[in-house]
Amino acid sequence: MAEREILTWELYGTASRELAQAVADSGYEPTIVLGIARGGLIPAGSLAYALDCKNLFTMSVEFYTGVDTRLDVPVMLPPFLDRADLTGADVLIVDDVADTGKTLELVHDFCADHVRTARTAVIYEKPHSTMKPDFAWRTTDAWINFPWSTMPPVVRRTGVLDA
Ligand code: 5GP
Repeated sequence: MAEREILTWELYGTASRELAQAVADSGYEPTIVLGIARGGLIPAGSLAYALDCKNLFTMSVEFYTGVDTRLDVPVMLPPFLDRADLTGADVLIVDDVADTGKTLELVHDFCADHVRTARTAVIYEKPHSTMKPDFAWRTTDAWINFPWSTMPPVVRRTGVLDA
């Protein structure tokens, strides 16, 4: 079986805090945090709190269909972000991981002509990513198990309300 990087909830707390600290230390002060759903949503929320940024936007991009299986290109899913809302902003684009880098690139390009500045932050970067994030907590070659997507969705238990 391929090597795995396991990120626990506990370690995630440290990771998100250290990533935020790296952004703060750089002097970058985002006016908007833009999380890429779904994987980037929890990191984006954590960074928005840690950086004291109240403007949290999201956009949905689908690329991966399973472990290392993906569509040909990443695609944006509705509801679509109104780029006019980003005009003149300093945007921190946040995702869980830059693997091929194509998702970050898509979102970065989507914002580019509207924002004042854009930076990218991820928990993990893979060494082969075509787009080098401005901020990354760690680098790994392995498939990462994130705490929010490792377990299967819950299913309805019958009888729990009958008692
Ligand atoms: P990229 O466009 O950089 O190839 O991939 C970005 C998205 O693919 C991530 O936001 C994430 O949802 C998914 N992805 C890529 N690599 C991994 C991985 O190692 N583990 C998990 N859980 N998701 C990944």
